[in-house]
Amino acid sequence: MLKSFVPRASRSILRPLASSTFAPSTYYLVPRRGFASETEEHDVVVIGGGPGGYVAAIKAAQEGLKTACIEKRGSLGGTCLNVGCIPSKSLLNNSHIYHQILHDVKNRGIDVGDVKLNLTQMMKAKETSVTGLTKGIEFLFKKNGVDYVKGTGTITGEHEIKVNLLEGGEQTLRAKNIIIATGSEATPFPGLTIDEQKVVTSTGAIALQEVPKKMVVIGGGIIGLEMGSVWSRLGAEVTVVEYLGAIGGPGMDTDMAKTMQKILAKQGIKFKLNTKVVSGEVSEQGVGVKIEAAKGGKEETLDADVVLVAIGRRPYTAGLGLENVGIELDERGRVIIDQEYRTKVPHIRAIGDATFGAMLAHKAEEEGIAAVEYISKGYGHVNYGAIPSVMYTHPEAAWVGLTEQEVKASGKAYNVGSFPFVANSRAKTNLDTEGMVKFIADKDTDRILGIHIIGPNAGEMIAEGVLAIEYGASSEDVGRTSHAHPTLSEAFKEAAMACYSKPIHA
Ligand SMILES: Cc1cc2nc3c(=O)[nH]c(=O)nc-3n(C[C@H](O)[C@H](O)[C@H](O)COP(=O)(O)OP(=O)(O)OC[C@H]3O[C@@H](n4cnc5c(N)ncnc54)[C@H](O)[C@@H]3O)c2cc1C
Repeated sequence: MLKSFVPRASRSILRPLASSTFAPSTYYLVPRRGFASETEEHDVVVIGGGPGGYVAAIKAAQEGLKTACIEKRGSLGGTCLNVGCIPSKSLLNNSHIYHQILHDVKNRGIDVGDVKLNLTQMMKAKETSVTGLTKGIEFLFKKNGVDYVKGTGTITGEHEIKVNLLEGGEQTLRAKNIIIATGSEATPFPGLTIDEQKVVTSTGAIALQEVPKKMVVIGGGIIGLEMGSVWSRLGAEVTVVEYLGAIGGPGMDTDMAKTMQKILAKQGIKFKLNTKVVSGEVSEQGVGVKIEAAKGGKEETLDADVVLVAIGRRPYTAGLGLENVGIELDERGRVIIDQEYRTKVPHIRAIGDATFGAMLAHKAEEEGIAAVEYISKGYGHVNYGAIPSVMYTHPEAAWVGLTEQEVKASGKAYNVGSFPFVANSRAKTNLDTEGMVKFIADKDTDRILGIHIIGPNAGEMIAEGVLAIEYGASSEDVGRTSHAHPTLSEAFKEAAMACYSKPIHA
């Protein structure tokens, strides 16, 4: 804890008294004053140290604003670094290597001996990545002069936050501006009690101590498919139950969702689409999950050692004291804000998962910067039409902009161009050819409306698409841009060429 945040009340305060009455060197114990009057006012206090909150705090300090960030979990980085993006990607990467060594090296001329999984070490590798990154943010706070307050913040007045400190005691902060960045939590499944052992959220799923024989994943969205992939690669028999008729969530283009489902099914994951989970029963042996067709029908029971509930996430604002200042939530628990992230109390703003929009770390980060710029400069910028989504399975899926269904529904005339990785020289060289790139562009202007990729490294490749959309590029702009050979990104260029003209290699 930084020195300035040692709770003042726990210190004895000694002051010299007026020299006319006493010798100047004489010190007397002054009675403690209330916390609120003792704390110095900050220009910005951020509640929550996730990607939204910590980025906002660093940006505010860089803008010369006196800034504090309150975080209750004892480490910075929020859901993303502690129990989300980072640990899940560590497990995805290492389980992919394990799976590849088992199934995909012989044909590459590599003979390996006895391959064994050491799950404890795989979990340790994950912890090493998490700790390195969360400590890195603490370092950035020090470097930029952000006061890090470890505890739970409650808004007690329009300019006042009471912090229940992790080390005990309380502290009151005063702030000219407050940024709410308290994030989200897993949405529970009615009737299934989460114990993070047999019935788990993603938090339990990244920390299982043994590989379950059978795993049922409720929800075929990104988190469910990523965690399902991890445990399937490590040996679990995984069944994904999805209420809708397609995987990937509503943001995924239908073509892509179908292709991805086929690829994952080939890897061994079973899918039950248009199916609802009716109930679950936990016993010594495991969990019995009752399912039936979404439209209704005959019930069936799936046996599982572990059930992963991955039906989405909901904003987290419990105990934040919003009612103390009249800040409102919508029917889904999202903090209501205007286009400058202001709540009903204009100097209290909200960003990230706690409010509207995609629940993504990079979206929260963009909002953190924009919210601070609204405070310091009066303007900010986030282009919600150019926020990429990535699913880190193998191959990866990545997209930005509109899906073909969305463009069709808008009534706009459009062109589609696609290019398969099987026709890309680098993908062929790497023996990693599943997937394709798909461009959708306005028929009249050729302006790019959406880009969808399934393929190796799609998550990195989509950055070019985001930039193209951000700058209002046409598919011809991308198609006429030179791409290094031999690279996977040539498939990106050729899909653009297919959109306004013809590709060369397919
Ligand atoms: C398994 C999983 C995988 C994911 N993978 C990805 C991915 O690959 N890419 C991606 O973009 N997104 C991913 N996400 C989503 C991403 O983690 C979130 O969108 C992102 O963390 C949101 O950032 P945030 O700052 O809004 O909130 P959070 O990261 O949730 O941070 C909020 C913080 O506020 C703290 N807090 C809450 N209330 C208080 C309070 N009253 N006082 C003090 N502190 C408080 C919480 O402890 C928390 O640390 C994943 C999520 C999960 C669960």
